Amino acid sequence: MLGKLLGLWGADLAIDLGTANTLVSVAGEGLVLNEPSIVAVEEGTHRILSGGCAVGHLAKQMQGRTPQSISVVRPLAGGVITDFELCEAMLRYFIRKARRQGYGVKPRVLVAVPGCITPVEKRAVYNSAERAGARQVYVISEAKAAAIGAGLPIAEPVASMICDIGGGTTDVAVLSLGDVVASQSIRVAGDAMDQAVVDYLRRHYSLRIGLAAAERLKLDIGSAHPLGDELSDEVRGVDAVSGLPRKATVTSEEIRAALAEPLSQIVGAVKATLDGCSTDLASDLVDNGLVLAGGGALVRGLDRFLSEQTGLPTRLAPDPLSAVARGTCLCLEHFDRWQSALQSSDEDV
Ligand code: ADP
Ligand code: MG
Repeated sequence: MLGKLLGLWGADLAIDLGTANTLVSVAGEGLVLNEPSIVAVEEGTHRILSGGCAVGHLAKQMQGRTPQSISVVRPLAGGVITDFELCEAMLRYFIRKARRQGYGVKPRVLVAVPGCITPVEKRAVYNSAERAGARQVYVISEAKAAAIGAGLPIAEPVASMICDIGGGTTDVAVLSLGDVVASQSIRVAGDAMDQAVVDYLRRHYSLRIGLAAAERLKLDIGSAHPLGDELSDEVRGVDAVSGLPRKATVTSEEIRAALAEPLSQIVGAVKATLDGCSTDLASDLVDNGLVLAGGGALVRGLDRFLSEQTGLPTRLAPDPLSAVARGTCLCLEHFDRWQSALQSSDEDV
């Protein structure tokens, strides 16, 4: 306590290490960093460009526009670390940037991780954060963090249900008395939606487009439920037969058709989670409903669509993109209250 008052401890950090975006908060200060989980590396040496600084926003700007000697990589896919070294380098960069004037004492770090993470993958998170400068590393399940961030009364003896749709994974959980009572985690989320749009254009327009263009279509005109005024958008790509660049005009109805498959898998995960609940808990949800978090929750009309498909009242968490980060930071700020909900690198071997 005294150490903290004198500013001797480095401020503790809460990290939402997402497949698409990493958000870092400082306990007592709130969100200090929000950048894409991307790095730009030199082919061959696999070293991060610009002296280790081509991370996040800077790397994203380079995406799709690099010469052959450079590649832009996401160290996480499907909610887990796929490139351990790059993830560590990225985390180290973000931790340094977030701490600004660290006082030399290493911070405690709390990382939100997907529910489907394996022990080996969890160990990779601990190691990455430790080598990136953490004194002690804790993890919390993303679903729990999202529920706390969305302001759900998860400590009470009533059921709360959260569905966090990120880039790589969708995590659905029902919580009661501070713990997860039923959950599902599937590797279908925003990235799968982008891929579905790529596939749709190839199949129906013989047009090859990149994932970034597909994501743009999803953001601009994507929807899960019919829109009052349907939209359309122009997209540029390469003709699958002639190999020549051309453009096409696509409607929101078509993008909705493209998104139908990944969205039905998300509905399946919500239903499977409900199946795993006792009757009492499931019936609580008739009133308390389903709350959506993560960037994928922002697909137009997704709340209405899920409500129709599941029969549960459905709403978006306030600022869905930062719900996990807010919840993780709240846990860190009320560490004594939530410690039992966390796993630490010390105990977890
Ligand atoms: P992660 O936790 O995996 O880093 P995020 O919660 O940051 O993921 O969400 C990223 C995903 O959300 C991306 O697939 C992105 O395309 C999607 N996304 C962000 N904004 C929107 C939007 N307005 N409509 C649809 N999808 C969105
Ligand atoms: Mg997330």
